[in-house]
Amino acid sequence: MQKEKLYGKTLNELIAVTRRIGLPGFAAKQIADWLYKKEIQSVEEMTNLSKKMREILSNDYEVGLYAPVNVSESSDGTKKYLYKVLNNKYIETAYIPDNDRATICVSTQAGCKMGCIFCMTGKQGFQGNLTTNEILNQFRSMPEFKSLTNMVYMGMGEPLDNLNEVLKSLEILTSDWGYGWSPTRITVSTVGLIAGIKEFLEKSRCHLAVSLHSPFDEERRKLMPIQRTNTIEEVLDIIRNFEINSQRRVSFEYILFKGLNDTPLHIKELARILNGIKCRINIIRFHQIPGAQFQSPDLGTTINFKEALNAKGILTTIRASRGVDIQAACGLLSTIEQNKPAMEC
Ligand code: SF4
Repeated sequence: MQKEKLYGKTLNELIAVTRRIGLPGFAAKQIADWLYKKEIQSVEEMTNLSKKMREILSNDYEVGLYAPVNVSESSDGTKKYLYKVLNNKYIETAYIPDNDRATICVSTQAGCKMGCIFCMTGKQGFQGNLTTNEILNQFRSMPEFKSLTNMVYMGMGEPLDNLNEVLKSLEILTSDWGYGWSPTRITVSTVGLIAGIKEFLEKSRCHLAVSLHSPFDEERRKLMPIQRTNTIEEVLDIIRNFEINSQRRVSFEYILFKGLNDTPLHIKELARILNGIKCRINIIRFHQIPGAQFQSPDLGTTINFKEALNAKGILTTIRASRGVDIQAACGLLSTIEQNKPAMEC
């Protein structure tokens, strides 16, 4: 019988574990300490639990950490790790060093349901939600774990479509009994799921990044099918009406497509719809994917677009493209080959 994994459980869940198997309540905090503050790989190493307690615990439970199965390294230092997850599916995770920062970009689903037409993960379809264990194992089992300073939920999948597991992972990352990270080191990205945004804003203190890509309804529908049911106007209303504290950042991701969403009309409309929201825009260069009709604008157009938005009072930056040569950059993550059923190989 497969043992249940302890790594990825919240303190409340560990308390439930200790109750279920008849361990004293204080053992839950000790187990959390071993899981999230010390670098153990097995229950046997939890040496402040008695031998008997360790035996009872390991009858049904294991720590549940596992190393990536492959790594690709970019000429710019970015790395892309391949992890095996649910039912023999695979996901990718990016490691992005940048001077004194090192950011991990984690996946929350194998594939994605959202179908954004500029994204390789979207083309892959959906294979399943990751558990909290599978989300956090990308972080803990990355060889660069100790050097990580920031975390973005911008890998494969839509984080708010797997909200419970994402919220539990954020609780473990930011709680005193967990990793004790400041929420300001963590950004969660979304296409704008109405049902999830409010709950995310209420239950977490981490930064929010919304994929915007066009301020116009028709155009955004073509790029991001989610606009048909969860409009950006509704998303902005939720953000506008939520009291966001000064520590917390709301940003909008804007992939710039040549001749499509890079015009003065777009600048004017962006300024109009974002009016009253304290936010920033991150411009991302479009990274070519097979079958897509789009192109990246030249650097001059990109800089002009950025400056025009800044002139309108919206703090705008151009995000550097990292890991393009290993398909680790924005929109390029895909495990479609690895996730094919064995019959198709
Ligand atoms: S951009 Fe994000 S939400 Fe859209 S298909 Fe890709 S992974 Fe899914």
